[in-house]
Amino acid sequence: MDSTPQRAQKNTGTFSDELYLIPRWSVAGAVLAFAVMQYIFWIVLPAHRHHPGPPVGLRLYFSISWSALAALYVLMIGYISRDSPRRGMSLRLWTVVCIVMPGGIGAVLYFLLRQPIISICPACGAQVENEYHFCPQCAWQVTPCCGNCYRSTRITDLFCVHCGHDLASDHPPARLHAFTK
Ligand SMILES: [Zn+2]
Ligand SMILES: [Zn+2]
Repeated sequence: MDSTPQRAQKNTGTFSDELYLIPRWSVAGAVLAFAVMQYIFWIVLPAHRHHPGPPVGLRLYFSISWSALAALYVLMIGYISRDSPRRGMSLRLWTVVCIVMPGGIGAVLYFLLRQPIISICPACGAQVENEYHFCPQCAWQVTPCCGNCYRSTRITDLFCVHCGHDLASDHPPARLHAFTK
């Protein structure tokens, strides 16, 4: 885990931001998994085969698709190992589920069941889910919202896109800028 204080960030991470979550060990593991699958396909399997196997083109197709699948699976486990703590989900449980469940079912379950990203309230330290506008413990405003209909707004908006309310009249606290990079 990194030691930087967790900020209340909106859940607007792009795909490339999410890719940065994948730890190095899992990239190395993915390369290794790819190499092991290639080894099995080209060295181990032909040695156990008595009749001439499928044509080379077909073997190439199967070896690459199975190796890529194995590599992707290791990357997925790496991603989940970084993603689950920031959502307050059990890292140990989900890593075990992903490894034990066959055919990637564990990973699919993870993405179906995963919780919203949790931030820490800068004022009182309570856990704040990313879609909250106000801290449930101390009412500190963590994300900008409309003062009329209380739906989410961007700090750069002048008027609420839902109800047309003049957002400047709410006098939003300047600190909200820090949370909406
Ligand atoms: Zn608070
Ligand atoms: Zn509104």
